[in-house]
Amino acid sequence: ELVLPLPEKTRVLTISNQKGGVGKTTTAVNLAAALARLGAKVLVIDLDPQGNASTALGVEHRADVPSIYNVIIEDLPLESVVQKSPEEGELYCVPANIHLAGAEIELVSLVAREQRLRRALDVHLAEMDEPYHYVFIDCPPSLGLLTINAFVAASEVLIPIQCEYYALEGLSQLLKNIEMIEKHLNPVLRVSTILLTMYDARTNLANQVAQDVRDHFPQQVLSTIIPRSVRVSEAPSYGQSVVSYDTNSSGSLSYQEAAAEMARRGAPQVSARTGGK
Ligand code: ADP
Ligand code: MG
Repeated sequence: ELVLPLPEKTRVLTISNQKGGVGKTTTAVNLAAALARLGAKVLVIDLDPQGNASTALGVEHRADVPSIYNVIIEDLPLESVVQKSPEEGELYCVPANIHLAGAEIELVSLVAREQRLRRALDVHLAEMDEPYHYVFIDCPPSLGLLTINAFVAASEVLIPIQCEYYALEGLSQLLKNIEMIEKHLNPVLRVSTILLTMYDARTNLANQVAQDVRDHFPQQVLSTIIPRSVRVSEAPSYGQSVVSYDTNSSGSLSYQEAAAEMARRGAPQVSARTGGK
């Protein structure tokens, strides 16, 4: 049985990659479920209008359910939209639903439009007797205002990378955006973690891509790789993480191992960047 070191201060991670279908939601849900199972108190904020993270965590997100939309656009307290997931342990979710699709445009004319999630989260954390150990923000596949809100609210970025040919394409754009955010809106933001996902060991290509990513980001890439596994893709249709749907499957075990690795590595040491770069 794994014993997890718990962070003293809440680690807020945004799961980001402007490509769709690379495993962002799967990673947010399963790392969160694994950490909760190992004793951490965890919140997943669903920031994608598709609401896939809410579905996978078994949380209600019909159009009439209060959601992250009401928090970001209407200033509803975050606390009032948090739901407990039926998953094992202290796992909570702020759901997203279809209303969020319009938020990108509604945000444009609001005051402090980049800071709205951060402010709501800060208030929620400050009011809790026992704050979360981890907060994961599941981003939509774009670099719009919702994703910017996630970058401003977080201190760490976790980038899932699918082990396929185009994996590194578009990544430089993402990194440039993160650098811009760091410069102008959130000086502590760091890419702390890169997770290789949907790995198929039978192909040379997957090996090559994994090696390339490791060469580029030796500090950030977790040594654990998430294999491609049918059980991982089946779990959401049961409203479950793969960790509870099929605990001993390869996908579940690797997400548990990745979660433990993340916990052991801890939050990055952040010192002010010195100009240049
Ligand atoms: P994103 O949030 O980046 O759009 P998802 O997490 O929704 O990506 O994953 C895209 C699709 O790939 C989903 O159908 C998901 O079930 C599937 N998937 C993700 N990870 C794996 C995996 N390790 N093995 C098999 N299927 C996976
Ligand atoms: Mg997603």
